[in-house]
Order: sequence, then structure tokens, then C-alpha cells
Amino acid sequence: MTTYKIAVLAGDGIGPEVTKEAVNVLKIIQKTEGLSFEFEEAPVGGTAYDQTGKPLPESTLRIAKQSDAVLLGAVGGPKWEPLDYSVRPERALLGLRSELGLFANLRPATVFEPLIDASTLKREVIQGIDLMVVRELTGGIYFGKPRGVSKLPNGEEKGINTLVYTTREIERVAKVAFELARGRRKKITSVDKANVLEATELWRNVVTKVHQNYSDVELSHLYVDNCSMQLIRNPKQFDVILTSNLFGDILSDEAAMLTGSIGMLPSASLNGSSRAEAACRGMYEPVHGSAPDIAGKGLANPIAAILSVAMCLKYSFNQSQAAKKIERAVAEVLEKGYRTADIFTEGTRKVGTKEMGEAICKEIR
Ligand code: NAD
Repeated sequence: MTTYKIAVLAGDGIGPEVTKEAVNVLKIIQKTEGLSFEFEEAPVGGTAYDQTGKPLPESTLRIAKQSDAVLLGAVGGPKWEPLDYSVRPERALLGLRSELGLFANLRPATVFEPLIDASTLKREVIQGIDLMVVRELTGGIYFGKPRGVSKLPNGEEKGINTLVYTTREIERVAKVAFELARGRRKKITSVDKANVLEATELWRNVVTKVHQNYSDVELSHLYVDNCSMQLIRNPKQFDVILTSNLFGDILSDEAAMLTGSIGMLPSASLNGSSRAEAACRGMYEPVHGSAPDIAGKGLANPIAAILSVAMCLKYSFNQSQAAKKIERAVAEVLEKGYRTADIFTEGTRKVGTKEMGEAICKEIR
């Protein structure tokens, strides 16, 4: 039996609380599905800074690199805000992404029927949403050079960031999106601003070329401004949305919020496609941060972390059945009325982090 090595980087604030429940779920899945996991914990973020002076110590990075997958809780908090940018907890995320080559960020947006009325949008608009945003994560304007703020001879200041993409960077993330679409409804919307930005015209051309190898998948292109409108007007039209780093940052938050609480949203960052490559390493984490306002109180919703381990099973370990089992257990527990404070409504049963985790584990059993 293969033993999958998982690095557990719980981090700061509510990170350790929600990660604990996610690991408990994997321990149950190990038994019910006959799988084998080996967990190794390591500090990251502010906690790591306090222990070692670095948000991403070499020992943590080594453990992450030697693992088949990384589970991350959350990093950051007010305690570390006064620190210099170079050692801020959030730097650990950028370090992990670049060191592990995690160039594709996947954020699903699905709606759980019992939570539909928690959304700010009308029931008929969001019922049945099932979309995935694939965001390029290690290139684009966040990394392009030249960058910075400089002084002009006339005393004014000039700020500059550069949008750069190479063919290879676009091809590899497009491939991940097409492979994903093949396992879904076979529809990709590639999002760019090709009418005004040349680098995104290249994006459109390269994606169109990659499509030649995936003729079973339907490809369409949208300008980013139109896509942001369509996401609110008719989100059900989308299956996979493929886009660049900056546009993906914004659109994935927009798409995620269609479905309600931030405590429900998982994510995966991959260095390839599990369908295309033998082993695809990934980092799996809830979309939310360390939530300092509720940390240590046992109030955090662990579902985002738990759904993140379901993504890990699916994308890094090719265990789709086990992943479905977790997703079904979450749906069932919500159906039974269990709610953490962030998703609580009158007439449902308010529970804490631990109780929610235990209810999901019980459902899986
Ligand atoms: P946040 O996501 O931590 O919290 C926003 C709000 O959502 C808070 O009211 C919080 O209580 C609530 N919330 C978040 N997760 C929840 C959960 N699981 N259950 C119930 N409620 C939940 O965002 P923020 O307040 O902007 O940031 C706090 C810290 O987290 C900052 O230091 C920020 O830099 C960091 N952060 C880290 C990550 C990450 O580790 N990936 C992501 C975002 C923010």
C-alpha cells in the first residue's frame, strides 16, 4: 500500500484549530478507504517567526518538499503586523508557492443546498452553481520586472509594475485547466483583456493553441470586465474559468463569495495536473485567513479546511471516491442542521469547531 506523506503546516490564529479537524477527517478516511497517510507537522508564519526568526524556516521547507502534499492552515495576525515586510508571516505563502513550483491555483465555488439562503444573491441565480477558477499563480504582474516606485527629475514619483507572461507559463496552466475540464462539464472560459493588453493577447493565442489538443473541451474567451459581470448575472453558465494571476485573484474572490461564508471555501495550488502527470504535488488550504478575532475560541468553521483535504485526495492522490465521501459528509451534516456561528441561521443547531469536525467524521464512518 502506498503511504502518502503529508506536511501539516497549521500556522497561526484559527489555523491550528481547523487543521486539526481536517487531519482528523483524513485519519478516518484512512480507515474507511484503506489508505495510508504519514503526517509531519512543522511551524509556518508568525508561529515559525517566533520560534526561529523566519516565517518559513529551512526545516519547514524541507519537510514540505519531501512530502506528497502540504496542508496549510493560515498565517498572519496583528502580533506580526509591525514586522518588516521581508519576515512577515504572509511571506511564507509566497515562499512555499515558488519553492514548490505551485503555478496553478484552483478555487471551486459550489453551493450547498441548505446554505443557499445565506447568499446575498437570489436563490434562482445561485442554485446549482458548480464552477472552478484556475488562476495562474507564479507569473504575471505580481512578479514582472521592472517594478517599484522611483523619483522623477521634476520631483514627482512614478510607480511601475510589469505584466509579463511567456508561452510556457501560459501553456502549463492552460493544460491544467483543460485536464480539469475533461473531468467536469468540458467547458472552459479563458479570461483576458486582449483588446488592450498585448500580454493577454498572447494569453488568448496560446490558450487557443493548447485547445487544439483538447478538441473535446469547449473553449470560449471573455474579457475580464465582462466576466466579472457575468459571474453575478448568470454564474451557472461557467464550468472552468482560466485566467492570469491578477484577474484570477479578483475573480476567484468574486466567484467564491457567490456561495456564502468564507469559512466554507477550500483551495488547491498545484505544480501540474493529476490527470496529466503521475504525481502532482499540491498545497491545500482554506481560502480564509487566520481570523484573529475568533482565534482560540473554538468558533471557527472547519469546513473550508476539511474540503481542502478532499481536494488533496482528488488532485494529489487520485482518490476521487474518498474525496466525494468527504464532500457528501459535509453536505449531509449541513442538511442535518449543524452550523458554526458564521453560517448560523434561526432554526439550525449552532456548534463549535470541534463539534462540526466530529459530526463530519461520524458521517464519514
Ligand atoms: P480572515 O479570513 O482571517 O477573516 C475575515 C473574517 O472572516 C473575520 O471576521 C473572521 O472571523 C471570519 N472568518 C474567517 N475564517 C473563518 C472561519 N473558518 N470560520 C468562521 N469565520 C471565519 O481575513 P483578515 O481578517 O483579513 O485577515 C486576518 C489575518 O489573516 C491577516 O494577518 C491576513 O494577512 C491573514 N490572511 C492569511 C491568509 C492565508 O494564510 N492564506 C489569507 C488571508 C488573510
